[in-house]
Amino acid sequence: MLVCQYMSEVYQELQSQLGEVSQNEKLAPFTSFKIGGPAQYFFSAKTNEDLIKSVKLAISLSIKYFILGNGSNILISDKGFPGLVIKQDNMKISYDGTLVTAASGVRLQKLVRDVVEHNLTGLEYLIGIPGTIGGGVAGNVGTPQEGQWINEHIVSVEILDSRREIAEILKASCDFSYRNSRFKKVDNELIVSAKFELRKSTRSSIDENIKNFLRKRSHQPINLPCAGSIFRNPAEKKSWKLIDDAGLRGKKIGGAQVSEEHTNFIVNAGEATAEDVVILISYIKQQIRDKYRVQLQEEIKYIGF
Ligand SMILES: Cc1cc2nc3c(=O)[nH]c(=O)nc-3n(C[C@H](O)[C@H](O)[C@H](O)COP(=O)(O)OP(=O)(O)OC[C@H]3O[C@@H](n4cnc5c(N)ncnc54)[C@H](O)[C@@H]3O)c2cc1C
Repeated sequence: MLVCQYMSEVYQELQSQLGEVSQNEKLAPFTSFKIGGPAQYFFSAKTNEDLIKSVKLAISLSIKYFILGNGSNILISDKGFPGLVIKQDNMKISYDGTLVTAASGVRLQKLVRDVVEHNLTGLEYLIGIPGTIGGGVAGNVGTPQEGQWINEHIVSVEILDSRREIAEILKASCDFSYRNSRFKKVDNELIVSAKFELRKSTRSSIDENIKNFLRKRSHQPINLPCAGSIFRNPAEKKSWKLIDDAGLRGKKIGGAQVSEEHTNFIVNAGEATAEDVVILISYIKQQIRDKYRVQLQEEIKYIGF
C-alpha cells in the first residue's frame, strides 16, 4: 500500500516537473529487436535541457533511469524496465565552419545527410547504421571492414558528469577503444552532445562515398528485426566465423534465430522473447567455449535484467 502511494507520488512529481510522462509504455517498438516489456515511466526528451533535467530528477527521486537512443544495440527484458526510460529526442545540429556539434539524440543517418548539405566529409561510413549520437559515441560505432570509428572525428564531448555538472571533455579523456568508451563502462555519465571536426569536400565525391558504403552494407540482414552484432570480436578470430564454423548458422530457439546472412546477428524471426534471445546467446557461448576454448563477450547491453 505504502509502495503504491509512493509510486503514485513519484509519477505525479515526474509529470509536474517534466510534462508528458507515460506509464507502462511498451518498449519493444523503440528497439530494433522489437523485443522488451514496458517502462514503468517513459519520457521523450526533446531538448538538451529536458535530458539533463530528467536525469537529475530521477536521481533526486531515487528511481532508476535509463537513456534510450535508437534501441539498436540493446536487449530489453520481457519484464521491462523498473524506473524512468528517457528517450533522447534532442536533435539539434549546429555548425561553426568545419566544426559540427550534434545533440545526443541526433540519428546517425540524419547527421550524415545533414553534413553533406554543408559539403563536409568524414562521416560517410556511418550511413546505414541505425543509432543516435549518444549510443554511437558510447559504443564508438563504426565499421570494422573499413577500420573507421566515430572517435576519429570527435574533438570533444559535452557530458553531465557524475557530480551532475556539465563538462566538456576532450577526446583523449573519452577512453575510446574497439566498440567501447568510458561511457559504456560507467553508468553515471550522460553524453549531451558531441563536437566533430570534418573536412570540406565536393558534393559529388561525398555522394560517391555514401553510395559505396551503402553497397558494402547490403550483406547485413536488415530486413528482420535485430540488434546489430551480438558479440564483440575476440582476438583469436571474428565472432561470425567462429559461430559459422561451429555449425550454428540458422540455429533457432523459440523466435530467436542466428541470422542466415550474418552469423554474428541474432534475428527476431517472429514473436521472439528476450528470454529466447538470452537462451540462444548462452547456447552459442557454450558451444564456442567447448569447441574452440574461446569465451565470447556480448556487445549488446542488457536492460532490465
Ligand atoms: C541492422 C543493424 C546494423 C548495425 N551495424 C552496426 C555497424 O556497422 N557498426 C556498429 O558499430 N554498430 C552497428 N549496429 C549497432 C548499433 O546501431 C550501434 O551500436 C549504435 O551506435 C547504437 O546506438 P543507439 O542510439 O541505438 O543506442 P541504444 O541501443 O539505444 O543504446 C546503447 C547504449 O548506449 C547508451 N547510451 C545511449 N545514449 C546515451 C547517452 N546520451 N549517454 C550515455 N549513454 C548513452 C545506452 O544507455 C545503452 O547502454 C547495428 C545495429 C543494427 C540493428
